Amino acid sequence: MAAMLSSIVRSPLNDPPVAGGVTALEVTDLVKRYPTGTEALRGVSLEIETGEFFGLLGPNGAGKSTLIHCATGLARATSGTVRVFGHDALDHYEEARLAVGLAPQELNLDWFLTLEETLDYHAGYFGMPKRERRERTRELLEAFSLASKKDDRTRTLSGGMKRRLVLARALMHRPRLLILDEPTAGVDVELRLELWRYVERINEEGTTILLTTHYLEEAERLCDRIAFINDGRIVAKGTSQELAAEFGVTSLEDAYLELVGRKELSRARAEVIP
Ligand code: ADP
Repeated sequence: MAAMLSSIVRSPLNDPPVAGGVTALEVTDLVKRYPTGTEALRGVSLEIETGEFFGLLGPNGAGKSTLIHCATGLARATSGTVRVFGHDALDHYEEARLAVGLAPQELNLDWFLTLEETLDYHAGYFGMPKRERRERTRELLEAFSLASKKDDRTRTLSGGMKRRLVLARALMHRPRLLILDEPTAGVDVELRLELWRYVERINEEGTTILLTTHYLEEAERLCDRIAFINDGRIVAKGTSQELAAEFGVTSLEDAYLELVGRKELSRARAEVIP
């Protein structure tokens, strides 16, 4: 499948950063307290460099989605700051939002739209001119092997096609930072491998990626660096070797075991890739 891809992301917006480099995502002392009283983030700080493939790994309820929602303006942090390529996510919401593409875990597609409409409307929301929208839609449908389905309603697609469409939609406005929220949760092995090939390719072409997952082998295979989040706190970060060393063990799996315990570990490797 990957061989069929031309270039998914090459574009002026994805040009290398200006001299000196800019951190793609800079989260500082982020606290999020929901009205229910739950403190989902308890002072999270994180820096993701331009071009990195960064993994956020943690058990259910650790705060991964909340962090993503704060980074994309879907939720307002109680305190702390988020900067996307130097733009404050609150004070310069528009610039920050334009730089980010989000592929959420749930397939939040409008089942009555065609594939073409799905991509076109999304790009319209991001202010892309009509002609550019049309070209980009064609390019992405082609790249994700969905061109022959362009006039079909999204509800008629297979699960794998829906996943690919959600990814294509996230890339429509040429974001420099792509956030993938548990993209392979509940996905079969074959589709997972296919999605991995796509996201590896997108990263190779210059897009910074933040991936949240609770699958250890996914993080190990794809990510340059990984942060463990647990109970609203970043408890460790580094390459998988560094994380293993930090916990005095020899693998990422053992490091995770040290951190979250055996029950969560069995969930994190529930669907091991052969
Ligand atoms: P993860 O994505 O790692 O599973 P979440 O960010 O979804 O974790 O959740 C972190 C904590 O915040 C959990 O205790 C969860 O129940 C709580 N939480 C998440 N969203 C809300 C919300 N909208 N209102 C109240 N509590 C929430």
